[in-house]
This record gives sequence, C-alpha cells and structure tokens, in this order.
Amino acid sequence: MGSKLQIACPHCGSKDVFYSCEPKCCFNHVCEECKGTFEPVTEALGGRRKIVPPDPLPDCTEPAVACCLCESVAVYVDEDGVLVCADCQATLRLELTELAPG
Ligand SMILES: [Zn+2]
Ligand SMILES: [Zn+2]
Repeated sequence: MGSKLQIACPHCGSKDVFYSCEPKCCFNHVCEECKGTFEPVTEALGGRRKIVPPDPLPDCTEPAVACCLCESVAVYVDEDGVLVCADCQATLRLELTELAPG
C-alpha cells in the first residue's frame, strides 16, 4: 500500500507543513514551524507502476502535489520512497519550487 505524502520544509526541515490552498488554485504549502512557504511539483521518472492509495486518504490540509502528466492529486509514496500517481501510474520525483522564507 502507498503512504501519504510527507514533505519536509525546505527552509527549516520541519515535517509540520500543511497545504493551504486547493488544487484548482495552487499548491502553496506553509510550514507551521517557520512560516516559510513553498510549492511542490513533480517530474516524471519515466516508469509506470501501480500503487494502492493509503487508507485513510489524506485530508485536504495534508501535503499534496499534482501529477505532472495527468494533473491528478492522487500521488502517493511507495514502499521504496518513489512517488506514484494512482491515476496514471506514473513514477514521479518531487521538486520544491517558489521557496519563500517565513
Ligand atoms: Zn519551516
Ligand atoms: Zn498521473
């Protein structure tokens, strides 16, 4: 089974980050610790594999990212740490952009 996305704050390393917006707008995340912000994006690794979504599914304030191929937000982490889109099965790599310190 896949697990929920966990993103460490690129400013201070805290895992206490939350998703402050909604997928139809942007992927702005805020760090509870240092109030820094960032937006995660994905890059396709070129592979395909199946992933079972975690149970329970993350709620809407937990870290989220869109698949760069199909724009689905059903992106989860496989047992070996690789991100996989549950909709199109693409394997993905996480990148953090729009870094702004708090
Ligand atoms: Zn931080
Ligand atoms: Zn996808």
